[in-house]
Amino acid sequence: MAEWLKASARKADVSKQYRRFKSYPIRQCGGIMKTTEHGRRAAEKSNRKKSKFLGMSISTAKSKLVRLLLFSFAEELGRNTCYRCKQTIETSEDFTIDHKEPWLHNDLDLFWDLENIAFSHHGCNSSAARRPTKITRPNGTSWCSRCQSLLDKEEFSKNCGDPHGLSWICKKCTRNYRRSRK
Ligand SMILES: [Zn+2]
Ligand SMILES: [Zn+2]
Repeated sequence: MAEWLKASARKADVSKQYRRFKSYPIRQCGGIMKTTEHGRRAAEKSNRKKSKFLGMSISTAKSKLVRLLLFSFAEELGRNTCYRCKQTIETSEDFTIDHKEPWLHNDLDLFWDLENIAFSHHGCNSSAARRPTKITRPNGTSWCSRCQSLLDKEEFSKNCGDPHGLSWICKKCTRNYRRSRK
């Protein structure tokens, strides 16, 4: 992935921050979380007002704004190229954050790992999500999507979320990956 993304990944280490954030008790969140009933209702009222003015829900508007901002940075840096089809992404509507290796039913860290993030066209991203990875796996073997090799089934841990019942990456790659995250 792009050097600037790697650099910021190292600097920020989002996943570590995320883990730290998750472990915070609510009252330590610097007053951001409104825990009282009164506070909750006030926040809801304010959100309703904003959403009415925006003509869309405040959360939709915020995610659109973030995407717009990210797209303008990517464009400025010449990084608005689709990871999947290698063509230029022209508009922010067509600009999506893509995971190179699927994280769902696979590895939670892959969701937060900035090195696993790329940009792609809306269409390229969702057609990739719909298309199951079609790799012929001869009996007793499975495909590791990290070291890109066909290995003995024994080299994979079990993963009941995967249609093949095995992890997407081999034990050795999982070990290396976890070690690199420490
Ligand atoms: Zn594309
Ligand atoms: Zn591997």
